[in-house]
Amino acid sequence: MAVNKRYYTLLLSAIVLIGFVATSLIGYFVAKDSLTDRLQQEMLPLTSDNIYSEIQRDLLQPLLISSLMANDVFVFDWINNGEQDANRMTSYLAQIQKKYNTITAFFVSESSGNYYHPSGVLKRVSPANPEDHWYFDARNSRNPYVINIDRDTADKKRLSIFVNYRIEDKSGKFIGVIGVGLSLQTVVELIENYQKRYGREIYFVNRQGEVMLQSSQYRSELHLQNKSGLDKAFLQVLTSPSSSLSFKTSSGNMLYLNSRLVPEFDWYLIVEQVNDPSSERIETAFLINLAVAVVISMIVLALAHFAVRGYHDKLEMMATQDKLTGVTSRQVFEFYFKQAVARGKRRDESLSLVLLDIDLFKLVNDTYGHEAGDRVLTRVAQLIKSHVREEDVVCRWGGEEFLILLSGCNMQHARDITELIRSAVAGLQFHFSNKVVQITVSAGIAEMQADEMLGQVVERADHHLYAAKRAGRNCIKPDIDDDETA
Ligand code: GH3
Ligand code: MG
Ligand code: MG
Repeated sequence: MAVNKRYYTLLLSAIVLIGFVATSLIGYFVAKDSLTDRLQQEMLPLTSDNIYSEIQRDLLQPLLISSLMANDVFVFDWINNGEQDANRMTSYLAQIQKKYNTITAFFVSESSGNYYHPSGVLKRVSPANPEDHWYFDARNSRNPYVINIDRDTADKKRLSIFVNYRIEDKSGKFIGVIGVGLSLQTVVELIENYQKRYGREIYFVNRQGEVMLQSSQYRSELHLQNKSGLDKAFLQVLTSPSSSLSFKTSSGNMLYLNSRLVPEFDWYLIVEQVNDPSSERIETAFLINLAVAVVISMIVLALAHFAVRGYHDKLEMMATQDKLTGVTSRQVFEFYFKQAVARGKRRDESLSLVLLDIDLFKLVNDTYGHEAGDRVLTRVAQLIKSHVREEDVVCRWGGEEFLILLSGCNMQHARDITELIRSAVAGLQFHFSNKVVQITVSAGIAEMQADEMLGQVVERADHHLYAAKRAGRNCIKPDIDDDETA
């Protein structure tokens, strides 16, 4: 039974635990799946949209200024007039620089090769000078402008982004390059700001996949092709205006990538995220779920254990005790009897059984009701108990019959005890229907003989009880009486 009990509580807890773990796991995978979908389909594109529109706001302004300069009537007139009075151009550039808060403004004339700057004419560009390649790139370009990251001619220590806008006259003839410069630091700060805000890696690559702009933390010479895991995907990124992919990097992490062509620069804006941070939250939630599951399972285990034990004990009690009188029930008497016999043998002691029956009990029931009968039964049981020792067994053998097992008692001793009980019962006074009612008991006593079975001893006691009844009740009959069979 104990093994069964443990088995059931364990089984119950296992079921609860498995249920919890299963639901936690399902929840975990569903959340993870939908998160990956959301990340790829919504969050990353949204981030690149946001960045794109901020880039337009922050970076397109210099482009716009440069375009305005390239179409400025003053610029055309001044060039047409043979670049006379360099001061007029330099102060024009200074005015632009001041008004739009750019770090530089410049103009290079095709006819003179002069590099005009707010501080004056700095130099002459030459195809032989590698530093001046940007100018010739812009001159040869079929686009209206070329964006170039370079050291500033006016300040060699500073890296800048230049918008080199081609100037063409009405006939389409190329007459020079004009534009403004933006501090690279400003753009890098912008990217870093986005990175911090969105928690993603952000950078720009050109059409060849070379990383053109990135935050200072990732300042390594990088080609998209060399990026871990991107080697196979980079073609896809560089051949479509926008793409959204995810793949496992060589270090085993999931990388989510969203790219978008920024046509003004002819660069791709790339937004990357390695192992979505919210998946960490999902994992934490999963672990918390598991912990809760374990705790709840333990509680269930404990509750089930106590509940089963409680019921078990109760069932055992119910089976071993008579409900009305609280004395031992007939079902377990044989168990106690065998114990007592074994003990008696060990100690070489005798053992006696007393079968005690309430006299004319039916009359009590019939006259005063069943409840009165119950009270008599309970009271008699109490009285018997109070006259025997703890190790003796008082058993409700039948309706109003008690079987008393007296350990270590020979016939004489059992007879004395039974006589005490008989007279005590006779002395009891019950009050039913305003009447004082007295009752008596009769008993038959049998001392157990060697190797006798319970049934045999009880039969002898019953035999003597019958004799006592016949002798007029309210008396006891031991084995030794001769007239009992009469
Ligand atoms: P006798 O002296 O020959 O033993 O007569 P008696 O009336 O005691 O014997 P009988 O066997 O005729 O009646 C026993 C009665 O005990 C019959 C039955 O209804 C009643 N009885 C049995 N169990 C209970 C019980 O739990 N409560 C009550 N109130 N009565 C019970
Ligand atoms: Mg009776
Ligand atoms: Mg009876």
